[in-house]
Amino acid sequence: MKTYGRSDQGLVRSENQDDFLMRPVESGGYLLAVADGIGGGPAGSQASRMALAAIDDAVGLRVVDVSRLVSAVSLANRRIYDLGQDDSQYEGMGTTLTAAVIFPDRLLLSHVGDSRAYRIRHDQIIRLTMDHSVAGEMERAGTITTEEAHDHPKRHVLTRALGPFDRVRIDVADMPWSREDRLLLCSDGLTSVVFDDEILRYSERYHGQALIDQLVEAALQRGGPDNVTVVLAEVVRDLGESNGR
Ligand code: MG
Repeated sequence: MKTYGRSDQGLVRSENQDDFLMRPVESGGYLLAVADGIGGGPAGSQASRMALAAIDDAVGLRVVDVSRLVSAVSLANRRIYDLGQDDSQYEGMGTTLTAAVIFPDRLLLSHVGDSRAYRIRHDQIIRLTMDHSVAGEMERAGTITTEEAHDHPKRHVLTRALGPFDRVRIDVADMPWSREDRLLLCSDGLTSVVFDDEILRYSERYHGQALIDQLVEAALQRGGPDNVTVVLAEVVRDLGESNGR
C-alpha cells in the first residue's frame, strides 16, 4: 500500500488552515488524517496542527482497535479546548478531524466535522462519514436532498468540531477492507466544488499522486474558494503482475 497527500491554500484564503498526516503503523498499516482548522488569526491553523500532533503522539505504532483512536481524538480535543480557554489569541479555535488507520484487510475510522472519508471500489464511491454541519444534519434527517445540501447557505456551519467544548462526540467505524479498495480523505475545500461522481470519474482515470493532483487542480479551476486537502491510500498494482510475470 502507498499513501499520497497534498494541501493547497486555494485562491481566496490568506493562509492554509488545513493540514494532513500520513505515516506507517505496525502490521503494514498507515495512519492517515485530514484536519481543517476554524477560527480567525492564528487559531485555525494552530488547531489543525495540534489535532494532528496529538493523534500522532497518542496513536503510537500499535493500533488494534478504534478505542485507541477515540482516546487519541479525545485527547486532541482536550488540548485544543484548553489552549482556547487559556490564551486569548486562540479563543474560538477548532478543527475538523477525519482520521483513519488502514490495513490491507481492515479500516478503522474516526470522524468529527465536515471533512470526509470515501471508499472507492471499481465504479463505486461510498461516503464513509457524515458531515457534522447544519446542512449535513438536514440532509440526514431527509429535510433537504444531497443536491440542496451542496448549495445550502449553512453548509459550512459545523455542528461538531474539536476544540469548542471540553468533550466531543466522535463517530467511529471498524470495517473490512479489500486490496481493491482505495481510501480518500479530503477537506470541504474539495467537496464544496467537486461532486462525488466527479471524484469517481477522476479516480477511474488516475491513480496515486496524479489522482490527488487532478482533484486539487479541479478545485482550483473552480475558483479554489477554500483551502483544499486530499489524502489517498491505495494498493499499487504491480505492472509485472498484470503482465503475468
Ligand atoms: Mg475548509
